[in-house]
Amino acid sequence: RWRWGQAVTLVRELEEACDTPVGRLRQVVDAMAVEMHAGLASDGGSKLKMLLTFIDNLPDGTEEGTYYALDLGGTNFRVLRVQLGGKGSMMSHKVESQPIPQELMTGTSEELFNFIASILKRFVQSENDGFQQLPDDRKDLGFTFSFPVKQLSISSGVLIKWTKGFSIEDAVGKDIAQCLNEAMSKIGLNMRVAALVNDTVGTLALGHYNDEDTVAAVIIGTGTNACYLERTDAIIKCQGLLTNSGAMVVNMEWGNFWSSHLPRTSYDIALDDESPNRNEQGFEKMISGMYLGDIVRRVLYRMAEESDIFLDPAKNLSVPFILRTPLMANMLEDDSPDLTQVGRVLEEHLKISRVPLKVRRLVARVCDIVTRRAARLAAAGIVGMLKKTGRDGSGGVESGRTRGKPRRTVVAVEGGLYIGYTMFKQHEVLGGLDISIPNQMEPLNTKLYEKYKNLKKRKFFAEDEWNR
Ligand code: ADP
Repeated sequence: RWRWGQAVTLVRELEEACDTPVGRLRQVVDAMAVEMHAGLASDGGSKLKMLLTFIDNLPDGTEEGTYYALDLGGTNFRVLRVQLGGKGSMMSHKVESQPIPQELMTGTSEELFNFIASILKRFVQSENDGFQQLPDDRKDLGFTFSFPVKQLSISSGVLIKWTKGFSIEDAVGKDIAQCLNEAMSKIGLNMRVAALVNDTVGTLALGHYNDEDTVAAVIIGTGTNACYLERTDAIIKCQGLLTNSGAMVVNMEWGNFWSSHLPRTSYDIALDDESPNRNEQGFEKMISGMYLGDIVRRVLYRMAEESDIFLDPAKNLSVPFILRTPLMANMLEDDSPDLTQVGRVLEEHLKISRVPLKVRRLVARVCDIVTRRAARLAAAGIVGMLKKTGRDGSGGVESGRTRGKPRRTVVAVEGGLYIGYTMFKQHEVLGGLDISIPNQMEPLNTKLYEKYKNLKKRKFFAEDEWNR
């Protein structure tokens, strides 16, 4: 029997539950701004940690010299060296990237940091081009570490918790910079962590290096997070905080944002229940690359169970995370008339063959619904952040207007999901936001976007939609 109707009903219900009309997005925007206030008022005042970074000054392109950095994020690990020549120029750069072995994500902190230090050592030693390290020439290292850290100074901070599938229990509560320093000295690598920063902060720094109107940064990769430049007097939980610039970068840890206005489905609840960090990272679980594919898998699995749209047994669909987000993106980006790509992914990765076109269309629809919700929620998060700083074009509470014309605002956006997934960008920019990739970013291989130029709130959505 062909219970097509039931499959269609499930997709309709999903569509309804994931709906993000502008009215609802406005509520998310407001909730984000309110939670930001609460998180700045007191530690533990909100699900948003609003972490201090001790960064009060951002690079502006005048920097010169050779810098080493490493980046430990979610999926990949990168080591790099750049040589900056001032005036925003980059004389040379070298990047090495490799996946983090799965077993290191759940082992001990010593194993993880030994691994990192050994790769870094190999990287430094592989240089035969005049950058050879003299024995007593200690080098400073920038360390981008994209997990929640309670920063103690610019170069030290303790890990609050792991996210994105990492769980190395003995590292929680430890000073991450010290862990790396110890591992480096153990293998005779004469380097020291000079700056420990979140990846959002790194993105903001790079954005600012290229364009001084950059005031916030967002990452949408394996996980999602944002940071922005806040006035120190608005950081109420840290009275008397003084910086030269009168501002400090705040790492929001927005992946943990939660609001009852977020459109949550039974699939989200099940995903959360089965995750190692239940009731945490709620916003992230609706938006980022680690989860989108699995939400789709859950929907398809239920469709397979409750209807017989798939002729083959779909037992592969019961395997968590088998449908990875890039594959899901692949299916949605299939613009061939008979959706060959959708058929191929179903067959090769889920072992479901002979899927009729009608069903392939339904599968693509599910991918679309989940992606669209994610992109619109991320956009609402950005508007919320800009609302908090009075830069959302509404001339709101903390108006960012210098008399007359609104300030130019640039938000740097980075992360594999955002960069690699065209459909995601298209959804986020419903209102035809103008996006450009500054060419000078290409050499750094970090593909940063200058976005939200001359920002007006309605630009995030179709104009008529926002005003309706
Ligand atoms: P990380 O966040 O781990 O530091 P990235 O920012 O490179 O690393 O993000 C990698 C994640 O982005 C992947 O886990 C994947 O979920 C997602 N991603 C990468 N490429 C694509 C793509 N083409 N389509 C959809 N998602 C993608």
